[in-house]
Amino acid sequence: MIDLHCDTILRICESRDAHQVEASKSLQGLRTNDFHVDLEKLRKGGSLAQIFALFVRKTEGKSSYETFLGMLDVFRDELAKNSDLVKQVLKPVRTDNQLLQAILSIEEGDVLEGRIDRVAEIASYGVRMIALTWNFENAIGFPNSLDPQAMGKGLKDFGMQLIPEMEKHGIIVDVSHLSEGGFWDVARISKRPFIASHSDCCALCEHPRNLLDEQIKAVAESGGVIGLNFCSAFLCEGSRVTRIEDLVRHAMHLYQIGGSAVLALGTDFDGIESTLEIPDVSFMPVLRDALHKAGMLESVLDAMWDGNALRVLC
Ligand SMILES: [Zn+2]
Repeated sequence: MIDLHCDTILRICESRDAHQVEASKSLQGLRTNDFHVDLEKLRKGGSLAQIFALFVRKTEGKSSYETFLGMLDVFRDELAKNSDLVKQVLKPVRTDNQLLQAILSIEEGDVLEGRIDRVAEIASYGVRMIALTWNFENAIGFPNSLDPQAMGKGLKDFGMQLIPEMEKHGIIVDVSHLSEGGFWDVARISKRPFIASHSDCCALCEHPRNLLDEQIKAVAESGGVIGLNFCSAFLCEGSRVTRIEDLVRHAMHLYQIGGSAVLALGTDFDGIESTLEIPDVSFMPVLRDALHKAGMLESVLDAMWDGNALRVLC
């Protein structure tokens, strides 16, 4: 299995900060923790590779770039401490080697601070995808919004320049969280497959973070993938529970509209608050069984579980 999005590194950073303030607060690391994702749970869940997002939340007195560098240190430190179980890679491969493969991504293009030269630097750290925005405007563009006018806003000039530069450096453009106007600019400008690492379907649950059917088709046409998000608010309006039946409905819709090659996983584990019927990443085979029972063929499940992500991350 390859999961395109989790926020576990943020959780680990928060636990380290809390521990510094109050020594009684337990330290949570990557090896085992109380979160949705740790190395033990990944192994149990059949993980081949996990994409770890460095989700950069605006912090007072610190630039996004400084916050990013701090999180990168924590990521590297956790990997160094657990080198018997995990290694950072640029491209995941199917292998008999037991080591889990960890891949870096960034959620919040503000890390670039409008500097095109920073793309090469960030690529040199092994970052393979960048979500252009989170839920705020930045130098690249605008986020998803309930306001149709705001939702229609496209990429800024820097955003337009950024797409080819990212592609040149092997960094995949991630449109999750982006405005619809920005999405269509990416679709128009990009020459390589682009992805929505963690988004669901608007046709089944009207939420601005979700994708319209035309958008699902556009991602598929680019050769990209869409990672199924486990956030209950994106799966079923008003629900606080991530139900397996809703995950199945959204996966089936992605398949129907975008075809098997667009399917992927983008759990958003450790970034979501909902009560989960798939309580953590070790339970992912339960979802696979449910999709199989709903009629998804093994070959399609293989594509969704890792085949498509392997193609895009090559
Ligand atoms: Zn997100």
